[in-house]
Amino acid sequence: MNKYLGIDIGGMTVKGILTDGNGKVFDEDSVPTDSDKGAEAMCGNIAKLIDKLILSVDKKEIGGAGIGCPGLIDSKNGVVVFAGNLNLKNFQLAEEIEKRCRLKVKLTNDANAAALGEARFGAGSEYANSILITLGTGVGGGIIINGKLFEGGKSAGTEIGHTVIVENGLKCTCGRRGCFERYASARALIEQTKEAMEGNRNSEMWKGYDLNTVTGKTPFAYYDRDLTAKLVVDKYISHLACGILNMINVFRPEVVMLGGGVSEQGEALTKPLQKIIDAELFGGTDYAPVKIVKAQLGSRAGAFGAAALFME
Ligand SMILES: [Zn+2]
Repeated sequence: MNKYLGIDIGGMTVKGILTDGNGKVFDEDSVPTDSDKGAEAMCGNIAKLIDKLILSVDKKEIGGAGIGCPGLIDSKNGVVVFAGNLNLKNFQLAEEIEKRCRLKVKLTNDANAAALGEARFGAGSEYANSILITLGTGVGGGIIINGKLFEGGKSAGTEIGHTVIVENGLKCTCGRRGCFERYASARALIEQTKEAMEGNRNSEMWKGYDLNTVTGKTPFAYYDRDLTAKLVVDKYISHLACGILNMINVFRPEVVMLGGGVSEQGEALTKPLQKIIDAELFGGTDYAPVKIVKAQLGSRAGAFGAAALFME
């Protein structure tokens, strides 16, 4: 019982990894999610993926299969309460995969899985308390306290992206206004960049991009040579710092790890962020400093973390 399966369900593909307590990868693969073909088809794909990954391994060696799934997850009972992108509602996912693969299965939210993966094998491995914040289409993440995943009541907590940083601000998909995610996601950054370009036709950014080709990289690429780009990035980082500091002031982790597309900017993002965090950190930086770092595991974080659900 020294090998573990980690499964990360995404909108398009399901990633799987066979690993051990040290994060050694024995095998990894992926299959299409096929959620549009129904839960049956998706579970069939996941079962096939698991069977393939453990093909050359004695089943007795497998401690279990952890699954990270988007949406609202009842981790205690292994149920997907609601996952809009996967068309799932009150679906007994853990039980279904257990039946098909005859392995113990645990389930958690995909963002929580990624946080656990980074905490155990990635940028947080030297710290007991860490927070992962992913800057993608939305803002997600997870919280690790004393080495353990903190899921909140009925495992429905840590929706970091839906804490408000601007009261009565921009309308969010969750129904609130001014959510962190409306200002700090990659999608928000692209919106902010387009708006800034439209507001200044002389911006250098027009030389390389138009409104259809702008990405989250655009304002960073022009940061040093275009004031409009600089203002977009500075404002974005200011919003990001605000949301991160709210998390820090509640949980006071030793490290905040940034994942998702925008985190690819590396030090162009983490350095100015660290400066703001240090300046505004409650009680200053002497007693309990907080490091801002880029996450390390990329798209594998979720699968690693899912496997880690069995590594207690
Ligand atoms: Zn929201």
